[in-house]
Amino acid sequence: MIVKKKKWAFWKSINFKITISFLLILLVSIEIIGNIFIQNLEQTTISDYKETVNNRVSQLATSAGDIFSDMTETDDQKNEVLQNQLESFNASDILEARIVDSKEVIRAAVGSSNDELIGKKNDYLDLIDFTLKRKEIVEDGRQVYVNVQPIQNSTGDSVLGAIYVKSDISQQYNRVQDIATIFYSASLVAGLISVIVALLFARSITKPIKEMEKQAFKIAYGDYSSKIKVVGEDELSELGTTFNLLSNRIERTQDTMESEQNKLNNVLTYMTDGVIATDRRGKVVLINQPALDQLNMARSDVIGTSILQLFELEKEYTMRDLLENRPEIVIDRVDANEDFISLKSDFALLRRESGFISGLVAVLHDVTEQEKNERERRNFVSNVSHELRTPLTSVKSYLEALQDGAWRDSKIAPEFIDVSLEETNRMIRMINDLLNLSRMDDGNVHLDLEIVNFVNLVEFVLNRFDQMMNNDSDLKKYIIERDFQLETAWVEVDTDKMTQVIDNVINNAIKYSPDGGVITVVLKTVQHQVILSVTDEGMGIPRKDLGKIFDRFYRVDKARARKQGGTGLGLAIAREVMKAHGGYIWAKSQEGEGSTFTLVLPEQEDFEVEEWD
Ligand code: ADP
Repeated sequence: MIVKKKKWAFWKSINFKITISFLLILLVSIEIIGNIFIQNLEQTTISDYKETVNNRVSQLATSAGDIFSDMTETDDQKNEVLQNQLESFNASDILEARIVDSKEVIRAAVGSSNDELIGKKNDYLDLIDFTLKRKEIVEDGRQVYVNVQPIQNSTGDSVLGAIYVKSDISQQYNRVQDIATIFYSASLVAGLISVIVALLFARSITKPIKEMEKQAFKIAYGDYSSKIKVVGEDELSELGTTFNLLSNRIERTQDTMESEQNKLNNVLTYMTDGVIATDRRGKVVLINQPALDQLNMARSDVIGTSILQLFELEKEYTMRDLLENRPEIVIDRVDANEDFISLKSDFALLRRESGFISGLVAVLHDVTEQEKNERERRNFVSNVSHELRTPLTSVKSYLEALQDGAWRDSKIAPEFIDVSLEETNRMIRMINDLLNLSRMDDGNVHLDLEIVNFVNLVEFVLNRFDQMMNNDSDLKKYIIERDFQLETAWVEVDTDKMTQVIDNVINNAIKYSPDGGVITVVLKTVQHQVILSVTDEGMGIPRKDLGKIFDRFYRVDKARARKQGGTGLGLAIAREVMKAHGGYIWAKSQEGEGSTFTLVLPEQEDFEVEEWD
């Protein structure tokens, strides 16, 4: 049987589940860690930057305060120093810076058109109130940091001006962004590596599981040949070892069960009795071949059928009757050879260890022979009684008539005595025949075997019949035609008994032929068998009787046969005698046209003819 294994979708596999779990854990971790890290990084970077800018601006404000307070220098000189200071302060991140005095005049400026601004009035609102301002704003789509620092004198009690610095803080943000990008790219690479690692890890777990699953699948279908390769010393390898052990044990158990099953099957097949097992409800679950042959049924028709239906017992019994009383039942059937058979069924209960009745076993014995023998015995006794009573009754009536005075009548008396004698002789003949048959039945028949030329033996018997007819003109007329296709045919026979058989067959041919009938006797050999056939032109034997004429006392027309002095045992004796000689006899007939009786004997070839000449 080829069984296809179910294919799993990859996304349902443990491989996938472990990998995806790994990946999810990693992604969530990266997300959380990344967020915290980026936030912190951003905070520290931006605040560090702002602090640096603030410090520098404060320092500049202090030195600008000193310059403003210096009374020795002119305004132009101061402007030049302030401009120098502001330029030295200038850096790549400073977008614009200016210093204004308390009169709101721009005294130094870097950034956009700085030269033109000096000496002009401040136009930035942020500088109007000379207070400290630190703020982040978006300008032209980028983040800028505006720092307004008042300039005070050394004592700090008067405001001399203010410094305005606008720096490009977006670079800091970009740096943080770059770091975040590097972080996330690294995380992505780490994610990919971990997916591969997770896949490999999952495979290292699922591979042995898969192998075990394959093995289990094979075991399920009876293949115990392959074993799981155990590698390492972890829980999975331990499971693999246990699995191999389990497979061995199952194999051994299976072997034992199979051999037990085989033994049982062999016993069931080779036993001559039929065996049928049913479940509790009487449905057939097992039947052996002899039972199928006896019932002349196919297994597929029997399995699942009720045993009551199978034995045609539905009207007489219920399943409960069978289980409780287990009656002895005789079933009559026609077997596969179309022979009538009688089956005796004995029932036994099938019980579990708990005592629970789980079914019924029926054992079928073929009792056809016993039944037939019994029937034959009964028939035989009735036949013998009948056969003897008829002549005895007539002898008795003749004797009574003689007793009543007929003995005085010189004409009737001898006739009565003749008939009585004839009947008595027939009875003696019958009893002798019966004794012979009984001896043959017991295997006590003694054959005085000698090797004779069968042609001569048959010729001798036929000549006697010819003579008998020629000597007695009252006898029925017949013509015996000889068709001998050979001159010698050596056979080993008991001459007396064989003569009796041939006598009986020729006698019957004459008896059942019309007056003047032709009896053809053919003698030939075929394949080392000597064949003698006797064909008459008589009344023939009906087809229905043909198979029975070799039975004891069987006669087609009882009254007529008896009148002709037959005992009804001649052919039965012939059959037994032929059997004792290793030969056989059979008949064929066409009703109204005649019959042919054929005797077959083994030809004797391996002896020196000279010894007998
Ligand atoms: P019987 O003594 O009655 O002849 P057999 O055993 O010799 O007894 O023959 C049995 C029966 O077979 C006969 O009663 C007869 O009905 C039938 N039978 C035997 N031979 C012939 C035959 N040649 N033609 C017709 N019927 C025959």
